[in-house]
Amino acid sequence: MTQIECQPGIMDIKLYVGGKSSVSGVENIIKVSSNENPLGPSPAAKEAVRASAETLHRYPSTDHAALRQAIAEVHGLDADRIICGVGSDEVITFLCQAFAGPGTEVLYTEHGFGMYKISALAAGATPVEVPENTRVTDVDALLAGVTDRTRLVFIANPNNPTGTMISEAEVTRLADGLPPNVILVLDGAYAEYVQGFDGHASLVEARQNVVMTRTFSKIYGMGGMRVGWGYAPQAIIDVLNRIRGPFNLSGTALAAAAAAVRDQAYVEACRAENARLRTWLAGELARVGVPSDTAQANFILARLGSVEEADLCDAYLQSQGILIRRVSGYNLPKALRITVGTEAECRAVAEAIAAFKAGARA
Ligand SMILES: *Cc1c(COP(=O)(O)O)cnc(C)c1O
Repeated sequence: MTQIECQPGIMDIKLYVGGKSSVSGVENIIKVSSNENPLGPSPAAKEAVRASAETLHRYPSTDHAALRQAIAEVHGLDADRIICGVGSDEVITFLCQAFAGPGTEVLYTEHGFGMYKISALAAGATPVEVPENTRVTDVDALLAGVTDRTRLVFIANPNNPTGTMISEAEVTRLADGLPPNVILVLDGAYAEYVQGFDGHASLVEARQNVVMTRTFSKIYGMGGMRVGWGYAPQAIIDVLNRIRGPFNLSGTALAAAAAAVRDQAYVEACRAENARLRTWLAGELARVGVPSDTAQANFILARLGSVEEADLCDAYLQSQGILIRRVSGYNLPKALRITVGTEAECRAVAEAIAAFKAGARA
């Protein structure tokens, strides 16, 4: 009898578990489980989506020229060195497919984003996890983890789910310490939440082996549309473009993203509102005995005293219709990741956690 077998590594992949989006029996839920922008997309992006309905019969652009040009103008980058993907997840996938494979290693940190491991395994490579320094990326641990089999090093800055960030000097030290054949991927999914931060674009421009990834899923409020992009040296872009499907992005997605990136006033308003509410929420939680690290993105990693307390708190929040994200899969079983929602949502979360700490149970 013949036996169908998939490629090695694939059955080691644990299925990605997204943030919860419903609770049975509860109607008005507060979904703060997936780091979505509670304000949604820019009105200009919504209008571009509506207008795109007229041309759904046409195949989309294969070179994404208009979107790359819009991104390049807004960020002051070279459009030729931008690649667009179905979310930045797809750019991460391209990088692993192109540069990792059987017998090679892909490095990331103990609380690093789940897609790094999934994409490494899907490519047949060996994922290698190094420790962090109390929920902060540890450059020395990453450098110590490099072997002659290492091909890619992934860090998100700020990181998800910790919300912490390392300095430009630390990232530069990491880049300096890597062998020239190892690619450093700087995942900037939350870069826009950090005022004045270029997501390390300047480091990409200064090196031959540094890549930046960005997304329209977070501050742009377009997670449902699936658009991300990467910025890389030309030689790396030329490789990635060979494995990218010619029609990977729909015309609707391309139009929406181009309109969104040109509306930087909206992005700035979202950034400021997020920063204000994030500080407020972290303060309210700290006041009732729930600490969190200084957060740099659009979520807070709230630390409970034990796994049991985290379970009970999660259950209580769910009973109140509040969905947060458990992060046991990220080696953080006592923590709850809470997205900064609207002001009303933040107030509801703060009140519910205060009630839980005062003894309320599901
Ligand atoms: C959300 C997120 C992404 C973005 O994924 P998309 O595929 O662009 O939606 C990438 N990296 C990190 C660390 C994230 O949290």
